[in-house]
Amino acid sequence: MHHTQTNLIEIKEKIKAKIDELSLHEYDPKIIAVSKTFSEKDILPLIDYGHCEFGENKVQEALNKWSPIKKRNQNLKLHMLGKLQSNKVKNAVEIFDYIHSLDNEKLANKISSLQKIENKNLKIFIQVNIGEENQKSGIHVSKLANFYTFCKDLNLNIVGLMSIPPVDGDADIYFKKMQELKKQFNFKDLSMGMSSDYLDALKYNASFLRI
Ligand SMILES: *Cc1c(COP(=O)(O)O)cnc(C)c1O
Repeated sequence: MHHTQTNLIEIKEKIKAKIDELSLHEYDPKIIAVSKTFSEKDILPLIDYGHCEFGENKVQEALNKWSPIKKRNQNLKLHMLGKLQSNKVKNAVEIFDYIHSLDNEKLANKISSLQKIENKNLKIFIQVNIGEENQKSGIHVSKLANFYTFCKDLNLNIVGLMSIPPVDGDADIYFKKMQELKKQFNFKDLSMGMSSDYLDALKYNASFLRI
């Protein structure tokens, strides 16, 4: 068995054990296999194993790597996790199924207009700067309501919220805040939990783990 397959199986087992421990019945979070910097030889075994959700953080890398793979595997879903520049939106809309990093009006406008041209309707997460860190991407919590309204007026398909909590903080506090925001705005999905803290994110009903 290929090492990426064994990794995935191990992660799934840990998730299942944690969900049992928390008695969260019928909770089935999705794993986004973050494949940035990985090549086909590590990715294809996961596809053979039946894995469908993959994540990248650069448009050009995603385009080069995934255009041929997606042509052969129509059921794959590709997630854009990284910061998206507006001059890359056209290509992003072509190759990705989800965008996790929407955090400004200019980008929202651009996605909306290019989706119309490309006849696409991507699932989109609003990225929240949940730790209110100066240098970090994401919309400030106090601006979320207005920004969400702005996105809905553009007919963007906003499915939920995404965050990358502060590295040195207690992730639980931020995951809890995210879960509260999700409830407040009645979103379907929460994209949170990375390789180091995905088991903690399960307590707060994360629906997409980025590992
Ligand atoms: C790279 C990346 C991940 C996964 O990173 P790890 O260090 O493996 O946890 C998750 N989310 C985003 C937004 C990323 O860019």
